[in-house]
Amino acid sequence: MQILKDIESLQQWLSEIKKQQKTIGFVPTMGALHEGHLALIKASKKQNDYTLCSIFINPTQFNNSEDLARYPRTEQKDSQMLQNVQCDALFMPQAQEIYPNQNVLQLSFGYLETLMEGKFRPGHFAGVGLIVSKLFHLVQPQRAYFGQKDLQQCAVIQCLVQELNFPLEVIICPTIREPNGLAMSSRNQRLSEEAQQKATQIYQTLLNIQILIEQQQNPLEQQHLTPILKHLTQNDITIEYLEIVDAQTLLSLEYPYPKQITIAVCIAAYLEEVRLIDNILFKY
Ligand code: AMP
Repeated sequence: MQILKDIESLQQWLSEIKKQQKTIGFVPTMGALHEGHLALIKASKKQNDYTLCSIFINPTQFNNSEDLARYPRTEQKDSQMLQNVQCDALFMPQAQEIYPNQNVLQLSFGYLETLMEGKFRPGHFAGVGLIVSKLFHLVQPQRAYFGQKDLQQCAVIQCLVQELNFPLEVIICPTIREPNGLAMSSRNQRLSEEAQQKATQIYQTLLNIQILIEQQQNPLEQQHLTPILKHLTQNDITIEYLEIVDAQTLLSLEYPYPKQITIAVCIAAYLEEVRLIDNILFKY
């Protein structure tokens, strides 16, 4: 695997591939890789001649500087994992090269920034939009791969690609989970073993809500919501938001929930001061 530490070496690697008119699949990440990331690499390898992964902990998408400072950094292990799945190249630039100056450009994603992640992490999607745009311009891939675990990020990126006419296809891959159901996340590393066990209740809650919806019930009604929240509290989980939305628009749905559309149940919660998100999609 080629390790490309700056834009110049990235451009050299890309120029060879473009000369051969081969396709490139691109998987942007912030490192601390796990099987969720590797699933994106594997999906890209199936559909493209070459797969490029990037690892860049993007400072502009962190609205909390402590969160940025505590973000796990495991470069050696990451590059070994990428080698093992035969990723073709890894781009890992320094922040100084990506942001030589304080950025002036501010992207805005309208209503998408007023709900769920956008509401609780002001400025987050402006930062995501900026780094993804920069990386798309630098790499010019035919396809780019993202995980459904970050559902709202997928919506933001689809908006970016459509409205700014990036000539590439966005591929959304399913959420990879631990055998106990916990959605894999780089942040899980910061949880104690006990908390990792308790965190499985986040996914369990999503499944319970799906069951209630399938039984034509309203999970957000007091009689259902109170025991749901109590159970999470007993497991030291504090909910930031719990939303039942249209998976396409991410707008909140009112009970009775429509049957023709894909419903997303989305959650953000804290456990041992670690912020975790998860969601499930279904039609009923
Ligand atoms: P991150 O390194 O957390 O920024 O994630 C990089 C990419 O991996 C994003 O597209 C995420 O949505 C995706 N991803 C993270 N966790 C998972 C998971 N458990 N399953 C599938 N994709 C994931």
